[in-house]
Amino acid sequence: MTLAYLNGNYQPLAETQVSVMDRGFLFGDGVYEVIPVYARKSFRLNEHLQRLRACLSTIRIANPHSDAEWQAIIERVIASSDSADQQIYLQVTRGIAPVRNHAFPADAKPTVLVMSDPLLPPDAVLFARGVTAVSAADFRWLRCDIKTTSLLANCLLRQIAIDAGCAETVLFRDGILTEGAASNIFVVKDGLLLAPQKNHLMLPGITYDVVLEIAAHSGIPYVVRDITAAEVKAADELLLTSSTREVLPIVALDERPVGDGQPGAMARRLAAAYQDFKRTVMYSQP
Ligand code: PMP
Repeated sequence: MTLAYLNGNYQPLAETQVSVMDRGFLFGDGVYEVIPVYARKSFRLNEHLQRLRACLSTIRIANPHSDAEWQAIIERVIASSDSADQQIYLQVTRGIAPVRNHAFPADAKPTVLVMSDPLLPPDAVLFARGVTAVSAADFRWLRCDIKTTSLLANCLLRQIAIDAGCAETVLFRDGILTEGAASNIFVVKDGLLLAPQKNHLMLPGITYDVVLEIAAHSGIPYVVRDITAAEVKAADELLLTSSTREVLPIVALDERPVGDGQPGAMARRLAAAYQDFKRTVMYSQP
């Protein structure tokens, strides 16, 4: 049976409970990671733990574990699951406070949750057809670089896509592309891959980094810079990336075709390279 980890204990998820006084429940006062696992090996664990460390430090929660401890916890949860491919969800909140008060509690102990779900890579059909998206004004706060559990704005924004029968909402702030409601977005124009630059207005995606590494290794020309809404509108291709959705072509935005409305050459090339990368890095190791 798949076990969840909560504050030192491993038990079935249904028996895993936290107090209503937990700051995560009352304030969304915490950070999280989603780590893909292929063939029971965590993908880019060091990078995920590095982002976790950075986010914890930014919100002033002491990292409750060393990297080796995190790894041991994650490996035990992975081992308990029947699935070879999984997604690990890891969350750290500021912990339980005696009273509800915005001020940080003096001696709260962070609440640590690690759980696992089977990971189903995006359907081949989804990739072959591409997905559709809508655009919206990015009304989130100004620290979108923190992977916080306070995801109300992201949920509201993603729901705009769901309600329109689309897969993602592409966000713009002051006429500049930021990211998707739960993904990073790339633009392709005349064979050039364009990536928004990392700053406080977007989450530094682990998949985003992998895609740029692949581009560098494969000789795909790319530029990291601000991308305007007009450029997105005139794009030959749009791509979304995330740990669970990998690399997906967006073939229509706001009901207008992107390029010729089919997954393009860059999407095919990057997605194939991503699968190769996964296969060589993850499945070929003992
Ligand atoms: N941006 C946002 C807002 C996200 O929620 C995510 C992850 N779901 C991403 C980007 C992609 O990050 P990663 O590649 O690390 O999954």
